[in-house]
Amino acid sequence: MTGDLRDDVRALFTALAGHEPDGLWSAPGRVNLIGEHTDYNDGFVLPFAIDRRTVVALGTRDDAAIRVASTFAAGEGWTEAELAELEDLRADRSAGTWVRYPLGIAWALGQTGADLAAVPGVDIVIDSNVPTGAGLSSSAAIECAVGVALNDVWRLGLDKPTIARAGQRSENDFVGAPTGILDQSASMLAERDHAVFLDCRSLESETVPLGFEEAGLCILVIDTGQAHEHATGGYRDRREACERGARELGVAALRDLTVDDLDRARDVLDEVTFRRVRHVVTEDARVLETVRRLREEGPRAIGDLLDASHASMRDDFEITTPQLDLAVETARASGALGARMTGGGFGGSAIALIPEDLVSQAQVAIDGAFAEHGWGQPDVFVVRPSDGAGREQ
Ligand code: ADP
Ligand code: MG
Repeated sequence: MTGDLRDDVRALFTALAGHEPDGLWSAPGRVNLIGEHTDYNDGFVLPFAIDRRTVVALGTRDDAAIRVASTFAAGEGWTEAELAELEDLRADRSAGTWVRYPLGIAWALGQTGADLAAVPGVDIVIDSNVPTGAGLSSSAAIECAVGVALNDVWRLGLDKPTIARAGQRSENDFVGAPTGILDQSASMLAERDHAVFLDCRSLESETVPLGFEEAGLCILVIDTGQAHEHATGGYRDRREACERGARELGVAALRDLTVDDLDRARDVLDEVTFRRVRHVVTEDARVLETVRRLREEGPRAIGDLLDASHASMRDDFEITTPQLDLAVETARASGALGARMTGGGFGGSAIALIPEDLVSQAQVAIDGAFAEHGWGQPDVFVVRPSDGAGREQ
């Protein structure tokens, strides 16, 4: 699949720039196995990279311009800016298109030590098979693919966690979406057949073997087709509720609470804020327990934790949709060991941990259930835990 992307992006680069690119780089989308809305609460997450990637062809220029083009906006051709004007563009939120992602990471690398007055200009062409707005983090894939490419050609020598932080900074301060470090860490640090267990406070990470293949299991993604929007609305509201909860309970972040603190939290907080806090505190505990079980018992042991995570997001955090709930219930009824929505919520995708030999049956059942409700067909597909960002050619 990535092979076709490589050919396509190279061909588009050559057509637009009139010469071959200097090289190709790529970065994956991700699925978060468990640990939702815990990242910005300094907590724990457990994502893995999927076998869907964003590929970037890049050529350096002999001036200080940055030009970007994407198959995402085929026909638009280049969008051009000067490296020196990226700071002005950051402040000007009116230019709000997809180009803010690649321009934003160039700006963020400037904030991370790159001297934008000294590095060469670049032409960047982007292609991807990560679905956008599906909760699989096409945004981190584009940030990290462009980030590793610029790190190489600008000879910045930044390590992977630093590029991940630059991606987050770009998304927060240039794109304007208040998201945490989860997505970029997964895209940068992932390893094939492993998940990334990340402490979002210390930013220390370890890889954890998933062992799906040996256990005859796989992860099925159910993309509901309902696009979410992180810069506005519910995501921001949930984030504010978590900050309020931490403040009223006198801790730096919800990470500092355990399940034993919940009785006190119930007395101090209003009912809604309490449920938001309870989701985050119990979700952190579920991530730690998932890591323990993966290491000691294997992937067949984690199904009920995925189920409990979904129930918490549905009832306490209230970020699921009827479509996500139906996807999860139907997957479970078709033999999944566990299922949950993944990503920021309010649409996007669900995942199901399911025996390989039940996949087709589950796909048919999910299609049927959506049709019965008169909802559009979801996109249902298997993902394999894959390698993180890097140079391709
Ligand atoms: P998600 O990360 O879940 O896919 P986001 O809303 O965070 O959803 O990011 C999606 C946005 O990222 C798209 O609307 C687009 O602006 C940008 N984007 C993602 N992939 C590409 C691409 N290949 N080319 C151009 N822009 C992209
Ligand atoms: Mg995103």
